[in-house]
This record gives sequence, C-alpha cells and structure tokens, in this order.
Amino acid sequence: MTQFTRRTLLAATAAAVAARALPAFAAAPHSFKHGAFDVTVVSDGHLVLPISFLANGAPPDERAALLKAAGQTGDQYQSPTNITLIRSGSDLILVDMGSGDRFMPTAGKLWDNLKAAGIDKGTITKVIFTHGHPDHLWGAVDELDDLVTPDATFYVSAQEWDFWNGDDAMRGLPAERAGFVTGARRNYAAIKDKVKMMKPGDDIVSGLSIVDTPGHTQGHVSLALAGGDGLIVGGDTLTHQLISFEHPEWRPAADHVPEQAAQTRRKLLDRLVADKSKLIGFHLPYPGVGTVERKGNAYRFVPAA
Ligand SMILES: [Zn+2]
Repeated sequence: MTQFTRRTLLAATAAAVAARALPAFAAAPHSFKHGAFDVTVVSDGHLVLPISFLANGAPPDERAALLKAAGQTGDQYQSPTNITLIRSGSDLILVDMGSGDRFMPTAGKLWDNLKAAGIDKGTITKVIFTHGHPDHLWGAVDELDDLVTPDATFYVSAQEWDFWNGDDAMRGLPAERAGFVTGARRNYAAIKDKVKMMKPGDDIVSGLSIVDTPGHTQGHVSLALAGGDGLIVGGDTLTHQLISFEHPEWRPAADHVPEQAAQTRRKLLDRLVADKSKLIGFHLPYPGVGTVERKGNAYRFVPAA
C-alpha cells in the first residue's frame, strides 16, 4: 500500500467515524432576515411514517404518482421536522420544540443541532407551540421530565390546551395513539407554571401574530411575521411538498378534523398566493422555506433555497 492510498484510507475511515458520531441530520442551519426579524430554521431530524399516512382514501394511482415525483417509493417515507427560531430585539423565540427522546430515534435532534450551530438553548426567551402533537411538543422536557428551557415563557393556543387536557382528547385519534394524549398532558403539566394562553389574532411580540389554522388539531395555529410580503410559519397546515399543494382536499391521517383541515389548507394557500408571502413548513423538505404559486386549480410550492 503506498503512502498516498494509506493516508486516503485513514482519512476516509476517520470521516466515516465522525459521520456516525454526528446527529442524524446535521445540515447547517438555514438563516435569513425578514423585516425586523432574524429567522433560522434548525432540523429536529425526521420522522419515519407509513406512506398511507399522507392521504387517507386518495386514489391510489394518483397518490403513487405524486409520491414517485417526490422521490418517495416503498411503504414508508421520511418526513423532515423543521424548527423555526426567531430573533426579535432581545427575544429569542422558538416555534415548537421537536420530539424529544421518547418519540422516534430519528427525531429529537434539535438541541444537538442548536448546539452545533453555536446557539445556547438557555438564551431562548419564548416558545410558541403550533399544536400538541409529539413531534412539536414532546421536546419540552428531558428524560427526567424537567424543562429543557426552564427560563422561557411558553405560549399555547387556549383551544389546544383545553382539547388535550379535556375529556374529549381521545376523539378523532385512533386508539393506538392514546399515547399522544398522555404525552401532551405530561409536557403541558411541565410548562403549566410558565405558560401563557394565546388565541388567534394575538401579538406575541410586535409584528408577530397568531393565525387561526384549525383542523390538523382542534386548536392548531400558525404565525404571521410582518415585513416585506409577510412570512407564515405554518406548522402542520401543509405537511407534504406535493400532496398538500396539488391536492389540499386529500386527507392526511394525522388531521384530527379532516374537513376543517382541508378548508384551512385552501384558505392559507390562497392567502400565501395573494400576499406572495414566504412560508416555512414544518414537514416540508429542509429547510421548508418557500413561496406558493397557483397551478391550475391547485397550488405549487416553490422552495426558496
Ligand atoms: Zn408535525
């Protein structure tokens, strides 16, 4: 073996070892300025979900064709999880907290990825939750059920809080997902002394308001950031880069109130087209930032990056 190939091999081995040591998803955070805000998207990793989850009852051939166009074949697909971080004056605002370490091994990478990006989680002042599903809420606590950001103030949609804590929480959820209710209650209990209830129309800081986008869950909300043509942090209103835009009427299995979720998708899509606003989609291909155009009777997501 020559010196050159031996060195190359050693370097390649070291790189492979380093790659294994990294979090599952370690792309550099995506940052941009929007009006008075500095916006950064950080990955929490990804979920692995059955393909059927994307659109219950959709015509199988049409669905398969769209999934193929998205590069998704087989029985399962990877759904990215994009967390938005907003700097506004002296506030550092996190939108959702990822899965934590009790949902899926491929997710819960937010804190590692923030650290790798040089962002100290202790400097987060506010956390706004779009809704109470595991991949958005369960990262609030660590393995001992202690708050990961104990100094932050938490903002939860009052309707969402009441839903998960109420007697009707099982309604609209398949029985096998009873764990979602337990998990939501565990995380809500951990933040209860630091939580502020919010409702659509509220301003959290100047230029950052809460938008009513119900249906995915009963109290699901999005965020609107003023500046330029606007920016919507859409949570799980639009969850797939092709299906949600070309067939907003199709019904993802995760939607609690399917008819309302479909109406909300169209309403938000119309707004995004009319305003030419930017969108950050939690489950769109990382970093999930783009704009929306009309395409025939439907829509098209145009990634910004
Ligand atoms: Zn989600």
